[in-house]
Amino acid sequence: MEKRKVKIVDTTLRDGEQTAGVVFANREKVRIAKFLDELGVDQIEAGVPIMGGDEEEAVKEICKAGLKASIMGWNRPVIKDIEASLACGVDAVAISISTSDLHIEHKLQSTREEVLEKMVKAIEFAKKEGMYVSANAEDASRSDMDFLINFTRAVKEAGADRLRYCDTVGILDPFATYEKIKTILGKVNINIEMHTHNDFGMATANAIAGVKAGANYVGVTVIGLGERAGNAALEEVVMALKHICGIDLSFKTELFREVAEYVSHASGRELPAWKAIVGSNMFAHESGIHADGALKNPRTYEPFRPEEVGLDRQIVIGKHSGTAALKAKFAEYGIHLGEYQAKEMLAIVRSHCVSLKRTLFDKELMYIYDDYFGK
Ligand code: MN
Repeated sequence: MEKRKVKIVDTTLRDGEQTAGVVFANREKVRIAKFLDELGVDQIEAGVPIMGGDEEEAVKEICKAGLKASIMGWNRPVIKDIEASLACGVDAVAISISTSDLHIEHKLQSTREEVLEKMVKAIEFAKKEGMYVSANAEDASRSDMDFLINFTRAVKEAGADRLRYCDTVGILDPFATYEKIKTILGKVNINIEMHTHNDFGMATANAIAGVKAGANYVGVTVIGLGERAGNAALEEVVMALKHICGIDLSFKTELFREVAEYVSHASGRELPAWKAIVGSNMFAHESGIHADGALKNPRTYEPFRPEEVGLDRQIVIGKHSGTAALKAKFAEYGIHLGEYQAKEMLAIVRSHCVSLKRTLFDKELMYIYDDYFGK
């Protein structure tokens, strides 16, 4: 698996912005695109040009920004959509249609035959214009497998460069994902992008399962922004590929925290302390046993180094702290605590934490020290 190249397609600016209540200013969109490019993202889905106005303008500006990444516009299988994308200067288009009977009957109010026909026509048009084409099977995870395979064959024959396999409402688990992707690849030799949603908290796991089954593109968003519970998170997928699957994409991962903060701010969505990979608690140790271990050798309680994602290690003094952490904390201020002193201080620290219902600031620790030992 180590030698495999997996490409990352970021859709923070399209699916991410589709999150109910989220809107980016155009300058923020351009800034985010630049960050994504610097991180090492292969393709940026920049928006939906047919919407016109600011959306179209933002895609144009991103195309003109001179980025290394491929820039993709999102489209329905409609010629005027694709023309709007072309007019922005993108080099790639995503052409999207639902493949599940549920969507075909109730949303599109159409037929499987019509879906195939529209898609093939749109792809042929985009290919004639020299575009890279992602054929998106929306709601693929709830689609009839035989029809999905026919769809995949048809889009490949029409010239599509890859299939975007969408778990639109996030109902897969990693085992089902693996089986489904294996089944498609067993029938059609095609590049597959995983586009997974997090409704049951499995977006990243499902994306990784798809890669293990042979998918070679993963669609992500920064901090997992996206429709409802969001998408697979960029930072989670890249770090899981690197540290769990042994696929190092050589991303500038040390920017992850900074980019997460920027997108969090621009989207008005908080960045929880417990957020995987980039949350402020990722390298914060409070409990006595953990802090003692982390002080002796950080690898005991850290899956990778904090610097790798732009975070710092913190030994937090709280109710669950032990004497080792307390001694280390005071040593930072040049105060040597003996074992007996540390034990006595710890009892006072713990009772403060319980009554305040929180951890203590360094300054508060110093006050406790002064009160206890006098000056
Ligand atoms: Mn989506």
